[in-house]
Amino acid sequence: MPTSLPIRTVISPGRYVQGPGAITRLGEFLAPIGSKPLIVADDVVWGFVGHDVEASLTAAGLPVRREKFNGIPSAGEIDRLVAVIADANADVVVAVGGGSTIDAVKSSGFLAGIRWVTVPSVASTDAPTSALAVIYTEDGAFEEYRFFPRNPDLVLVDSQLVANAPAAFLAAGVGDALATWLEARATSRSNSNTMAGGLPTETGTALARLSWDVLWENALPALDAVRDHVVTPAVEKVIEANTLLSGLGFESGGLAAAHAIHNGLTAAPQTHGLAHGQKVNIGSITQLVLEGAPTADIRDFIEFTTRVGLPTTLTEIGLDADSAELDQVAELATVPGETIHAMPFEVRPVEVVAALKSIERLARRVRTEAKLPEPVAYVAHH
Ligand SMILES: [Zn+2]
Repeated sequence: MPTSLPIRTVISPGRYVQGPGAITRLGEFLAPIGSKPLIVADDVVWGFVGHDVEASLTAAGLPVRREKFNGIPSAGEIDRLVAVIADANADVVVAVGGGSTIDAVKSSGFLAGIRWVTVPSVASTDAPTSALAVIYTEDGAFEEYRFFPRNPDLVLVDSQLVANAPAAFLAAGVGDALATWLEARATSRSNSNTMAGGLPTETGTALARLSWDVLWENALPALDAVRDHVVTPAVEKVIEANTLLSGLGFESGGLAAAHAIHNGLTAAPQTHGLAHGQKVNIGSITQLVLEGAPTADIRDFIEFTTRVGLPTTLTEIGLDADSAELDQVAELATVPGETIHAMPFEVRPVEVVAALKSIERLARRVRTEAKLPEPVAYVAHH
């Protein structure tokens, strides 16, 4: 049978659970999936949730074994975790933490041949629900995407835990999730394959759009609530948009220029300390410019994401508009196989450089007219 027959497909995690205090019910949802879990968490996250995770697993009759995550989802760290899984004879591996922990756990669970579960401690990326991981070199540059035959069996988000984290994490997640609609829209227009391994469905594209609508309506009040560490309906909606809607939307709706430009930005070492969603936001603005989007749309996007607290200028991410670094960024963003080739027109490095360069003056003008502060370089936040 020819393998080139076009299909449309949607993939998703087995179960999604979200709510304040949800982590105290982890054992109950984990027990049907495995009887020998290995928990992977860094020391900071474990300090916050270790007690609740232990109590919950014990109440469900599950043993508790925790392995420390070392910070970067690199090939070496993943192989180390595979060995730990074998040593523990675990049948399910559980990531408790941010996107890096989650990507390392998905990769190691797949290589070890067991099931995997994600418990994001922040809503800063849409990594928790997907069947892929982004692998970095030991010094933090983008290396590759790894694709797995299935999504996590369970994604469990404790919204109080998310609200307890600094608001900058939620803001970064908004940046990642806003890109989802821009990229799904481009993928739908070009009828390109998505990360799910087929053409986009109405479902994947619609969920990406819903994520966008929910965020424009709720992101600013949700960020204010999280500054007081309280969970409101707006916070719940933004967590769901950042995690589930954006996760399903990017994976089954498709990635395009914004994420390719994010990956390209990792060629500039000064961006390594920035959050994924912060770099993605520069990618979104660049994509809008590449598309020749209506000026009002670009303006609104720059103004809104500046208010969210995301970078909208090169200055903020430590890049100089005249630097040769922009060439390296553009080369890396357009390598064969990158998702930028899902755009409905051909994109070459020269066009990426021009678009990137242009956003500095453009965003400064928008910010001045909207009476928003002058851009200053971000202090790395991770
Ligand atoms: Zn992303």
